[in-house]
Amino acid sequence: MSLQAMIRQNPTGVLARAYAFAEKAHRQQKRKSGEPYFNHPLATAEILHEWHMDDATVAAGLLHDTVEDTGITLDDVRHEFGDEIAFLVDGVTKLGRMKYRGDGVRGKTQNAAEGRAESMRKMVLALSQDLRVVFIKLADRMHNMRTLGALPPAKQKRIALETSEIYAPLAYRLGMYNVSGELEDIAFSYLSPKEYEWVRKTAEEEYAARLAYLESIKPEVEALLHKHNINPTTIDFRAKRYASLYRKLLRHAMDITKIHDLIAMRIIVTTVPECYATLGVIHEAWPPVPGRIKDYIALPKPNSYRSLHTTVIGPAEKIVEFQIRTKAMHDESEYGVAAHWLYKVHKQAGNLTGEKLAGELSWVRQLRDWQDRIFEKEKDPEKFLEAMKIDFFRHRIFAITPRGEVFDLPTGATPIDFAYHIHSDVGNEATGARVNGTLVPLDHELASGDMVEIIRQKGKRPSEDWLKFVKTAVARDHIRAMLRAKDGALLGASRHPSRCAFKIVVENRIGLIKEISSLIARNHMNIMSYHAELTQGGKHSFERVDIPTTDIAKIQKIIMKLKHIKGVKEVSYKLV
Ligand code: MN
Repeated sequence: MSLQAMIRQNPTGVLARAYAFAEKAHRQQKRKSGEPYFNHPLATAEILHEWHMDDATVAAGLLHDTVEDTGITLDDVRHEFGDEIAFLVDGVTKLGRMKYRGDGVRGKTQNAAEGRAESMRKMVLALSQDLRVVFIKLADRMHNMRTLGALPPAKQKRIALETSEIYAPLAYRLGMYNVSGELEDIAFSYLSPKEYEWVRKTAEEEYAARLAYLESIKPEVEALLHKHNINPTTIDFRAKRYASLYRKLLRHAMDITKIHDLIAMRIIVTTVPECYATLGVIHEAWPPVPGRIKDYIALPKPNSYRSLHTTVIGPAEKIVEFQIRTKAMHDESEYGVAAHWLYKVHKQAGNLTGEKLAGELSWVRQLRDWQDRIFEKEKDPEKFLEAMKIDFFRHRIFAITPRGEVFDLPTGATPIDFAYHIHSDVGNEATGARVNGTLVPLDHELASGDMVEIIRQKGKRPSEDWLKFVKTAVARDHIRAMLRAKDGALLGASRHPSRCAFKIVVENRIGLIKEISSLIARNHMNIMSYHAELTQGGKHSFERVDIPTTDIAKIQKIIMKLKHIKGVKEVSYKLV
């Protein structure tokens, strides 16, 4: 039943009330395209309804933009709809404030960019607190992507980039392949319009030809399965998405005839034994291509995708890919974690508990374990809602710089911890901090989603008091090193040397110190402390630079490089 029909059927229900409330709140607003703004929350709610979400989530979908864009407050929503829906709306509102700028930090490597995106994905989960908030955000983003054409080009690019780097991978990790695929395809069309157009044109004819072929052999496949008493629930065709096709073409010299899974025939059966029986029947009829049989039922993909895949030389000697799976596996791959709602609603939780796989990123594994927990809790509806809580980041918070760089810190972290994570200089020179635009004390406890701006004063040194409240080793080590350097108690501070003190005699010139410090940074080390004094006559200066290593090979390498810097006269070192 459509959402609108459900609303008509129960005019006093929560969905009808949320519909009326949101429609009224947005009445004066228009979208960039000129249509009534309410079309957007309505479309978002319809997507959530398609994903089989519960009433609270669909209602929150209808209400998701009221707090940010109209005169309505969160208290109004709470008063009208209760704590649960208000909580969901608030979560989506908070996520809406986050802006991802892929190019926010200049001069960093691809790895750093990926690290930043990964932190951002974690932050989305941490800020959401409840998985249903993520679903609403994904539905919201889906509709915004489908209507992205109405926005100015610069905004299109920013939103497309955020979608391709944050939301599409997140949907994928949550097992929502269809959602992820569609988001990625639309983003691809805005980020690389020429490539998108090319692949679309190139694939068009080939798609049509292969589809016609698959249609023509479908009756044969059906008859064959019936003969073996297998009655598939559905047989359909699955076309490869443009974005993933493009990536694959890059690996195959852009030759589309080399892509064999352009369209696959998908067979949905009832039980796991039927999946294997179907595979057997197909292999008996047509010879499989060696190396192309994938048993993702016995060995699921790391993201828990399950299915049997095989490629055979089909009728008329043409290559055909088959994907065979049960309805439960299919729903899981369409809706991901959201499928759990479906199963809860229909009370048919099967034996879906997942498989443990090594080698995943740790948070992905946590996510996976957590999904397993959700599957277990499904049998107990009261505990089920509890299980939707995102709690595996409860020991971490995610704070963001004004430029959009995300830092992942332990709970209780302060602006000083944050500053030292940006750079040791930023930490050393910190004199104040603004959190979400408001001045706070330096021992202020940060929360996830906080935007933190550090106020610096050149040449300032850290205070010993900071050691009483900092939460990270990075901050503590830097502060101690600076304090030791200040006290002049550097020598003999410990029995075992922990760092290397360079003595560098230089001919003083502008920019020299910067060159030395960037050389050390390039060798992936930080300067722990630095001290300079002019020698007699002022012609030469004597620099003392400490870095945290005792590795002689590394030290020798740095000395060699130091000696190549113009103006450096003499370099010696001591382990302290
Ligand atoms: Mn929205």
